[in-house]
Amino acid sequence: DYEMAKQSENVLIRLNEEGFKAYWVGGCVRDELMGRSVDDMDITTSASPEQVMNIFEDCIPTGLQHGTVTVRSGDHYFEVTTFRTESEYQDNRRPAAVQFVQDIKEDLQRRDFTMNALAMGVDGVIVDPFGGQTDIKQKLVRCVGLAVERFGEDALRMLRCVRFASVFDFSIAYNTWKGLLHQRDLLQHIAMERVRTEMVKMMAGPHPLKGLALLDRSRALEHVKAPVNATRFNQRMLTGLEQLSGDHILLRWSCLLLAGAYDREEADKLLRQWTFSNEQRSRITGVLQVEQQVTDFVEQSGDIDTLRAHWIVTVLHCGAQAVSDWLQLQQVLPKQWREVSEQAYLGLDQVQAQAAVWSQSMPVHELKELQITGEQVLKLVDRKGGPWLGQLMKHLLKETAIGNIENQHEALSAEVKRVAVNEQA
Ligand code: ATP
Ligand code: MG
Repeated sequence: DYEMAKQSENVLIRLNEEGFKAYWVGGCVRDELMGRSVDDMDITTSASPEQVMNIFEDCIPTGLQHGTVTVRSGDHYFEVTTFRTESEYQDNRRPAAVQFVQDIKEDLQRRDFTMNALAMGVDGVIVDPFGGQTDIKQKLVRCVGLAVERFGEDALRMLRCVRFASVFDFSIAYNTWKGLLHQRDLLQHIAMERVRTEMVKMMAGPHPLKGLALLDRSRALEHVKAPVNATRFNQRMLTGLEQLSGDHILLRWSCLLLAGAYDREEADKLLRQWTFSNEQRSRITGVLQVEQQVTDFVEQSGDIDTLRAHWIVTVLHCGAQAVSDWLQLQQVLPKQWREVSEQAYLGLDQVQAQAAVWSQSMPVHELKELQITGEQVLKLVDRKGGPWLGQLMKHLLKETAIGNIENQHEALSAEVKRVAVNEQA
């Protein structure tokens, strides 16, 4: 983003004019060197937060205790953080205190990996005291300093390590990997929200399988608050994961959970513990619900009309989004991953071949499309409302969606009366 680069450069120049050192720092320098798109540009400076606030008119003290001021330049906001060191980490999470310093190298030393411990000034000169550029060239994730200590200070770094290795397709330096194995039980101190953030970034990247393999080998996820045992995942099924486009990452999660043989309830519980939003949870588990229903009904009957009727009930029950997600997932899963009968496989083939046509043939999808309302039903049978009404309306919707009843008031009324008479008998 040229405009963002320009505006951040203005901030650096302004700080330099006032006699302070200032650099682009961290992920943005790394991404620039790697030829990746840069989405936020962090700035680090020798100016104290007070000095930064005196220089820039438009700023927000977003993290004064850590030395961070958010500065606006044009339409862009930049985090400007004073050079600092950290000390006294609490509970293997955040630093208890920070000290401001005058040397950029001391600031870079607190950063997690050599590739993230890079700074660049307006003159384009790169400050790289730990060999970050070499490590980027050699595709290596390497801790700044002693891995055991660095992971001990902040356990989240272990998941960042795996995430970077996965997203960039890097290897992990030997001592860094050893440090991770040594400190992995500290992951229990990390809030699941932060665990999720790392995992979501990893799963959205181009090589999630690499990350999953590293998590499998390190057994790191067995040590987080809501643990996951990586060995339960069916490796063959996981191969489909990377074929799912990165802009449908939630479907990747559905695929992962299916490969782990999670049923819908189990998956929902895990995703809740992992602090996924309600919306994300229902999207991810919707696919599992369809899977459960379909595998059930294909075992029951191979008759094409019966399959069609079951499919339509599944659409009504799980929703159009979930069935469409499920169908998309079928495209990438290896054939015959399920443990079902031969007949069920034939049924599944039929369902996959016909599903789109069947879905399109549905004249109604929702109760409100029915040419009869609950109130009208109550009048017709002269009864008080109750759970029976909801059931009857569902029955009407199902029969209409399948095409057994026409979506006309007359036909629906006749069915209501028929059911009512049957019930009384
Ligand atoms: P991305 O933004 O692609 O997730 P990033 O490296 O930019 O990756 P940020 O969380 O934006 O990650 O952090 C910016 C910089 O702050 C990092 O490049 C690194 O220098 C430093 N940093 C972030 N988190 C940590 C940490 N847990 N320990 C030490 N340094 C960190
Ligand atoms: Mg960043």
